[in-house]
Parts: sequence; C-alpha cells; structure tokens
Amino acid sequence: MTKEKTLNFRISKELYEKIKKKATENHETISSTARRFIQDSCEIISDVAGEILTPREQIFDFEYDGKAVSDTMCSLCDKKIKRGSKIKIQETNAGKKRTVCGTCKK
Ligand SMILES: [Zn+2]
Repeated sequence: MTKEKTLNFRISKELYEKIKKKATENHETISSTARRFIQDSCEIISDVAGEILTPREQIFDFEYDGKAVSDTMCSLCDKKIKRGSKIKIQETNAGKKRTVCGTCKK
C-alpha cells in the first residue's frame, strides 16, 4: 500500500469486544483485524452485488404466450424453436423482450 489513509470512527463496545476477541484468536492487532474485516466485507459485498442484484432493467417481469413467426432460438437454453411453435415472450419494465421456449421458465 503506497497511499494509506487513516480512519477514525466510533464503534459500540460490543463490536469492539468482538473484534478484540477475533484479534486475540488470530494473534493480530485490533487495527489489522478491523482493517481485514472492512476489506473482506467490501470485497464480499461487491462480489455478491454483482451476482445477485441484477439491474432492474434486466428483470423480466412480464410474460405472455405467443407463437414463433419464424425459426428462432430460446434466449435461455439456446434450443431451436421452430416456426409456429408455442413460445413465451418475456418483457422487462424497460420494454426489452426475449423469446423463450415452452419448457423454460423465468
Ligand atoms: Zn428454452
């Protein structure tokens, strides 16, 4: 780390005791334990957010039945859908549509 910053903030006695306990268990200083917790939390949150918190415009809220007007592919399983087959049309709030075969669900 080339440029380090100092943080000063208050925490509850309970949280302090938890960090102190962990620091003792790991033979670390309270500062390095706290630093590691913050760092790990930031990484976990950004990893999880990327996987779970899908942007709203990518969520297909609406679904209706349709019929394929031409040969196409299922957006979910990549299976070929023949012209005239029953399909599901899914749509986002933003109006983005995708074609899904009869066996795939949201
Ligand atoms: Zn499918």
